Amino acid sequence: AEKIQERISNHERWFSLEFFPPTTSNAAANLIGCVERMALAQPLFCDITWRSTGDPAGNKETSSMMIANTMLNYCNIDTMLHITCCGTKKPQMIQYLNRAKEVGIRNLLALRGDPPVGEQWDPDQTDFRYATDLVKFIRETFGDYFVICVAGYPQGHPDTESYEEDLGYLKQKVDAGADFIITQLFFQAETFLKFEADCRAIGITCPIIPGIFPIQGHASFRSVIRLAKLDVPKEMLDSIESMRDNDEAIRDYGVQACIDLCQKLLDSGKVLGIHFYTLNREYATTEILKTLGIWLEETPLRALPWKKTSQSHAR
Ligand code: FAD
Repeated sequence: AEKIQERISNHERWFSLEFFPPTTSNAAANLIGCVERMALAQPLFCDITWRSTGDPAGNKETSSMMIANTMLNYCNIDTMLHITCCGTKKPQMIQYLNRAKEVGIRNLLALRGDPPVGEQWDPDQTDFRYATDLVKFIRETFGDYFVICVAGYPQGHPDTESYEEDLGYLKQKVDAGADFIITQLFFQAETFLKFEADCRAIGITCPIIPGIFPIQGHASFRSVIRLAKLDVPKEMLDSIESMRDNDEAIRDYGVQACIDLCQKLLDSGKVLGIHFYTLNREYATTEILKTLGIWLEETPLRALPWKKTSQSHAR
């Protein structure tokens, strides 16, 4: 089968969907239902974020790994597993990567990660300082087995002195063996288009996929922009504040803002596919994809054995 980095470049107007690992069994059931339904529209791949805390040392079966396994082997979706390296020692990393390989994962989003809020990194607790170290390690240990994606920051990463410096580090990360880039979320097409042009100007040639965040509610919006330390256009902030007690209005506003943003990106000719931060919710992303005309509902997923059984019981 074609590797995803080839499909990314060979297909036009595709999309991918990001989910995060649930923390309760209800949320897990909801997520799998959501992934199954959204898979009908044929995302190019789905990815699952890495939860760096709460996994006891020595445990290779993290909640992210379980969901990746389910998405790939039960939902039959090409799956990308995020993996963060800061605070992880090499033997533990090898365990994670071997487990990913055993499960059948071929795609990784290699990240540094962040320390828990209010904490510093303990240099003794990590063998990896930057995502570049993880990319190198994966290539040294597993050769070309994995397709490797890395993160890019259209507004610069908040820890760096300058945007230019951060771009230089992104180039190092790609040169270490990354196949493509997914960006941090942003709110204006110009932000992405400038970033894309700046990347090309310093010799980054791999695909750069815009990461799109549909605003779906006041609390989740505020928390994401605070954590990622993002600049938001003033008129957008004002609009959202004026609707702060009406999440439905905010969601509709977010859907329209994303449709406009994605349309500009697709019209620019610089973007073949779009990556969605779904927040494990269906409505907004589905509406956006349908309006853009890239929601392809064709072949239904195979019938699940117990669904068949319950239908025959009903008869
Ligand atoms: P790096 O590329 O290592 O960069 C980190 C900082 O170090 C930057 O400021 C960079 O400029 C600087 N730097 C890099 N190299 C050098 C060098 N040689 N010398 C000096 N400075 C350097 N977090 C999670 O915990 N789980 C996830 O699943 C997750 N998924 C994400 C997906 C995407 C698409 C994005 C954009 C972010 C995601 N994050 C996730 C958040 C991410 O972990 C943080 O943004 C983190 O702060 C940086 O990770 P990175 O891999 O980009 O780091």
